[in-house]
Amino acid sequence: SKYSKEDILKMAEEKNVRFIRMQFTDILGIVKNVAITFKQLEDALDNKIMFDGSSIDGFTRIQESDMYLRPDYDTFTIFPWRPEEGGAVARLICDVYMPDGTPFAGGPRNVLKKALKEAEEMGYEMNVGPEPEFFLFQLDENGEATTKTHDNGGYFDLGPIDKGINARRSIVLALEEMGFEVEASHHEVAPGQHEIDFKYAPALETADNIATFKFVTKSIAHEHGLHATFMPKPIFGENGSGMHVHQSLFKDGKNVFYDENDRLGLSKTAYHYIGGLLKHARAITAITNPSINSYKRLVPGYEAPVYVAWSSANRSALIRIPAARGAGTRLELRNPDPSANPYLAIAVMLKAGLDGIKNEIEPPAEVLENIYEMSAARKEESNIESLPANIDEAVGLLLEDEVITSVLGNHVLEHFAAAKKVEWDEYRTQVSQWELDKYLSTF
Ligand code: ADP
Ligand code: MG
Ligand code: MG
Ligand code: MG
Ligand code: MG
Repeated sequence: SKYSKEDILKMAEEKNVRFIRMQFTDILGIVKNVAITFKQLEDALDNKIMFDGSSIDGFTRIQESDMYLRPDYDTFTIFPWRPEEGGAVARLICDVYMPDGTPFAGGPRNVLKKALKEAEEMGYEMNVGPEPEFFLFQLDENGEATTKTHDNGGYFDLGPIDKGINARRSIVLALEEMGFEVEASHHEVAPGQHEIDFKYAPALETADNIATFKFVTKSIAHEHGLHATFMPKPIFGENGSGMHVHQSLFKDGKNVFYDENDRLGLSKTAYHYIGGLLKHARAITAITNPSINSYKRLVPGYEAPVYVAWSSANRSALIRIPAARGAGTRLELRNPDPSANPYLAIAVMLKAGLDGIKNEIEPPAEVLENIYEMSAARKEESNIESLPANIDEAVGLLLEDEVITSVLGNHVLEHFAAAKKVEWDEYRTQVSQWELDKYLSTF
């Protein structure tokens, strides 16, 4: 690993770190943390920090509530935005362990590690590059988030129209101070919408980066008097926020998706990975698009994918193959959104792809037409299925897929399905303004 225990103690001392946040993620992707003081850091690095798991949603029952946090040394980072005078704040991302020393089955990071182990046994390392989008909204006089945007900017617009540019610049600078390699940041299509892309990395590091990214973005936006939201579709009629996920497999430092002799420059392994992802696409959507609101983004007419197909050329397909070849050969899955738990989302994508490789699943022919403009009959003829229309349907498809459920494990699956059922029941009994407008006078 990058840092030793001594390195961390030394860095913390030199930078006058007073508090360390021991960070982990619950099943629904919410970042939790236990703050410790500098004095406890050595114990923490020796895996001696305990917390009460029963108070974390979906974690454990009261009887077995003591759980341990095992920090991943490589994730040690000092937050750049706290004044040094008050003492700096650092964080460590942790794995959750049971008192008997086994990894906790409900820990999303443990789930991803399990999936990565399977890849490793096949000789593969997974690389992942995400493109998270988000909105910056104004706060009202009580400091509560609104859906009022601060600008009327559009795709790739430059200031002064793009008033979010200052906030976005601070976010990028903070990320860079924390070691992120930011490749691109730009205004997105909708007013108030932005995207920050950071460089791909091994899967676990990227999942940690996504969790950190969301937290940093919210904190810095707040300093600028704005609210950052990763809610997938906050404004009716505008594009929603997605998080395209670029992925590739490497073996001995070489990208195994590349084959210069193939017509498209893709290897058999790449085609099989695509075959697996497409086969399980409808089942993994519950994890990659886990909120009620996710499905308001996955509708025709915007830039989000709706149909299960792949393409080396067009962006209406669920899976696109970006033009880069060689080390940059990769595929892009376009349905995930930033409300997903990054650990679980990457775990299920990888599992689907590995299943394709193991079972040599050939993908259907690529689709070169714009699928949004294809007739229903033409789609039927080409066997193009749709993604689930809502979270209830999505969870049903997830539960039927034994390959995908096997990587999540019973603990995560049961808790996830139960939480989504409550959410769905809550939602479907609401009477919305749309219904009142539509029916109140008509009937
Ligand atoms: P788009 O054209 O969809 O906007 P980009 O070309 O901006 O996508 O690429 C986005 C992401 O792809 C970045 O995070 C980048 O680091 C990542 N990426 C590049 N090469 C690879 C690779 N071999 N494996 C996984 N991700 C990669
Ligand atoms: Mg991009
Ligand atoms: Mg790009
Ligand atoms: Mg984008
Ligand atoms: Mg993209």
